[in-house]
Amino acid sequence: MTFTDDIQPIPVGAITDWADEADVVIAGYGVAGAAAAVEATRAGADVLVLERTGSWGGAASMAGGFIYLGGGTDLQKACGFEDSVDNMAAFLNAAMGPGADAARIADYCEGSVAHFDWLVGCGVPFKAEFFGEPGWEPMGDQGLMYSGGENSYPFNTIATPAPRGHVPQMQNKKQGESSAGFMLMKGLVDTATAAGARSLYDVRVQALIVESDGRVVGIRTRRYGITMDIRARRGVVLATGSFAYNEAMVARYAPRIAGRPAASIEQHDGQAIRMAQALGADLAHMDATEVALFIDPQQLVRGILVNERGQRYVAEDTYPGRAGQLTLYHQNNIAYLIIDGDAQEEAMASLTPQLMMRPPTWVADTVADLEAEIGLPPNSLQATVDAYNEGAARGEDPLLHKKSQWLKPIKSPVGAIDLRESTGGFTLGGLHTTLDAEVLHVSGEPIPGLFAAGRCTAGLAAWGYASGVSLGDGSFYGRRAGRAASQA
Ligand SMILES: Cc1cc2nc3c(=O)[nH]c(=O)nc-3n(C[C@H](O)[C@H](O)[C@H](O)COP(=O)(O)OP(=O)(O)OC[C@H]3O[C@@H](n4cnc5c(N)ncnc54)[C@H](O)[C@@H]3O)c2cc1C
Repeated sequence: MTFTDDIQPIPVGAITDWADEADVVIAGYGVAGAAAAVEATRAGADVLVLERTGSWGGAASMAGGFIYLGGGTDLQKACGFEDSVDNMAAFLNAAMGPGADAARIADYCEGSVAHFDWLVGCGVPFKAEFFGEPGWEPMGDQGLMYSGGENSYPFNTIATPAPRGHVPQMQNKKQGESSAGFMLMKGLVDTATAAGARSLYDVRVQALIVESDGRVVGIRTRRYGITMDIRARRGVVLATGSFAYNEAMVARYAPRIAGRPAASIEQHDGQAIRMAQALGADLAHMDATEVALFIDPQQLVRGILVNERGQRYVAEDTYPGRAGQLTLYHQNNIAYLIIDGDAQEEAMASLTPQLMMRPPTWVADTVADLEAEIGLPPNSLQATVDAYNEGAARGEDPLLHKKSQWLKPIKSPVGAIDLRESTGGFTLGGLHTTLDAEVLHVSGEPIPGLFAAGRCTAGLAAWGYASGVSLGDGSFYGRRAGRAASQA
């Protein structure tokens, strides 16, 4: 048979030879696939994981490792923070919307403490130390950090701030290549393997195999140019990641992120979504994206972020991903960070890895000169800085409520960092699933035998985002998928 990207479901009657079989067949050995493998094997199922690359890991093993958990985990308590299920839900309902799925958030928050315990039980290590510096992730092996703007405006007026970015302990991190996500994956894969899960690498899943009544009973795959049909006696779990690297899908569903995939891997090509769509699967939140702003948060927090009209639009001490979303979606991807010489020096001397530390693009003695150099409308930046400085002198930010610890009048010399086109991210939408990770048909009924989790599904985030939501809902609903598939 020649290679084809054909995603059309294959009638089981057309299969003459099964290359392999298992009770539960899982596509993708990243975080959702690994969590599914652990739970399915523990439920007594014979499990086979099919992975397209030469090893387990996926984007998850490169990830900073934030897992968004709360409601009073042992780690939160050990670091001296109080939290509750309701408080966590109040934050997520505000921060993941508009359009956040309140039932999913309630479900996730309710199970969050137990999920943390489950991860610890899988050998994922966490150090009981809080990291309180601005940053994209903890610099060392600290285990807990604010990762969604919980302690900044507006969320600090909606829910009691509690840090929920739980980070596995890891030494010698290399940001963006090998970070704490590896320790999460290692714990999950070791546990799944010890429980008896099998894995096959260099296997690319291609299409679903179905009974005449629509039940999914297997997957067609390709390995080294050869077609292999794999039978699933109980269920198939799709866990192949997002569609951030599928240009056509991004152009159609999430065009704002076109040309700027980040925090993703090229294997995230939307294959699982398309395979399930071909069976009539429903989708949700396909336009939602995580967005990073490429600047060191140590600089961001000490400056003011302005748009093409010289106006501020976000409290600079919030989650930098929120600043990224607001820049890309609401400000035409145009931003300038205004920062004075002292603040720049302080940021440079800070303890973060300085991966995204940037020098000023323009420097001037006066704000008027800087405004002219950037090409902002006359008096726009000057009015913004005057108002900011007037409040900062009193320790207040009446416009955007940046916390007083970061408020200092902007002095001379003053610089601006050009942050136009300085965003990137990954897609958050995908297959519409039940809380038991069943893939829903457009009719509203689950597709029998088909389950999914991770970034090929729509999870907690509808529009907003917090670091840790992907490894969080991927592992949480990956477990559900594994359990449900093993009982199907
Ligand atoms: C540098 C970086 C930092 C990040 N930091 C964080 C963070 O701190 N917290 C957080 O929550 N998220 C973070 N993310 C995002 C997070 O890693 C992903 O969103 C998450 O791993 C998605 O889980 P998943 O199981 O859906 O996909 P993955 O973990 O990527 O697993 C999917 C697997 O499926 C495989 N696959 C793809 N197509 C096929 C196919 N056709 N056949 C077989 N296998 C296939 C892939 O090779 C991959 O191994 C980060 C990502 C990166 C790259």
